[in-house]
Amino acid sequence: AKLASDSDTIAAIATANGRAGIGVIRLSGNNALAIAQQLTQESLKPRYAKLCLLKNRDHHVLDEAIVLYFKGPHSFTGEDVVELQGHGGPIILQRVLREVVALGARLAEPGEFSKRAFINDKMDLTQAEAVADLIDAASEAAVDNALSSLQGTFKQLINNLVESVIQLRVYVEAAIDFPEEEIDFLSDGKVENDLSTINQRLIDIQQQAKQGALLQEGLKVVIAGRPNAGKSSLLNALSQQETAIVTDIAGTTRDVLHENIQIDGLPIRVTDTAGIRETDNIVEKMGVERAKTEIEKAQVILVLIDSTTIDTGEQLQAELDKEVKALGIDQQAQSKMCFVLNKIDLSLITPGKYHDNNAIFGLSAKSGIGLEELKQYLKQQAGFKNVGETGFTARERHLIALSKAKTMVESAHHQLLSANAGELVAEDLRQAQESLSEITGEFSSDDLLGEIFSSFCIGK
Ligand code: GDP
Ligand code: ZN
Repeated sequence: AKLASDSDTIAAIATANGRAGIGVIRLSGNNALAIAQQLTQESLKPRYAKLCLLKNRDHHVLDEAIVLYFKGPHSFTGEDVVELQGHGGPIILQRVLREVVALGARLAEPGEFSKRAFINDKMDLTQAEAVADLIDAASEAAVDNALSSLQGTFKQLINNLVESVIQLRVYVEAAIDFPEEEIDFLSDGKVENDLSTINQRLIDIQQQAKQGALLQEGLKVVIAGRPNAGKSSLLNALSQQETAIVTDIAGTTRDVLHENIQIDGLPIRVTDTAGIRETDNIVEKMGVERAKTEIEKAQVILVLIDSTTIDTGEQLQAELDKEVKALGIDQQAQSKMCFVLNKIDLSLITPGKYHDNNAIFGLSAKSGIGLEELKQYLKQQAGFKNVGETGFTARERHLIALSKAKTMVESAHHQLLSANAGELVAEDLRQAQESLSEITGEFSSDDLLGEIFSSFCIGK
């Protein structure tokens, strides 16, 4: 069940903070029209643009603006909405906003316009999230996916699947209710068939959602290694920007540094660490702790080694083992690791392809040798398909809900085959339905909504 919409009127600057030709203040709620009429001293017709002077209560002109009124429910939020399209300077926008608030509006919380649009059934949760994803999109492919979700692609897939789950559940429940019937409805093959079909559809949606989430959130990569191994240089080479500080003095990068780059449309969030190793220096210790947290969150850990310090194959093996130990990388994180022997332009060593099960790359951050291979490896680790096939945007929470639904459908299958247990099949289907409904927000909690919308920006 959805919440009743708050009826108070909210207002916010909807355009980016800074100077621009135009700046938009958006109002939504019962008093939006009254406030706009007070500001303009004009009567406003729905969906007509009107050039007005905006004046405060002392008749002082605040700005000249195009005023647009959308009468609810035919608006973004479903409530009365007014857009004041004035001049895009921070001071002028702030003073108009102050007057709007003085006339009875309240400053909107982050994502509050979208939240009202959701509550008033103008869009479901996947579409509201798509609005945020569209604005945050870091690549064209991410934009295409977000637009696709906004148009309802993801929502439709989920709603159709929920429909099938409900139909099957009704069938199973009917079969339980009529045990005296001649035919055993549960074991006539239909239920099993339908469960398999639903399971396959879930797998397909999961795969598309993974690509969508990857395009939106990017692959998380950590670069670790000793001071001077060339971490900053590699980051620069991957991003082709001079963002990280490169020096000849060991230990320059004390802090954790993030960089968002793209490889053939795959967004990658690279973190350069100060290098994780034991230290007595308090400042460095804090850096070490943060680097360890980054390693836990990472999907790929690039362990960088200065190959000029190594002469023989035995030395290399020993060095790689030493490095893993020094970094304190645990068993689980080890599978995410790959070794990069940097400065190969200065070195005579030929690294093998693997150490234990981890890939080794010879590379020169300076000359670019081996960079292409490393990029391909990252794409492959991400399970990244080439851009072009538009899917939809997705998030971690969608993946979790899909995976929960899949577990329940598998469990239903198991209950059916092992025990012909109709009640348990029906209960599993009910839970699968609930998980899927969390994605669209048909089934949602205040906590979930709070978490989703608070991450939006103000004015959205
Ligand atoms: P970090 O401390 O690990 O971030 O290392 P930096 O990226 O700051 O690099 C340390 C030094 O090694 C700098 O002088 C770089 O120019 C140099 N360097 C980094 N990568 C290479 C490389 O592939 N080849 C050569 N010849 N020098 C490199
Ligand atoms: Zn560095």
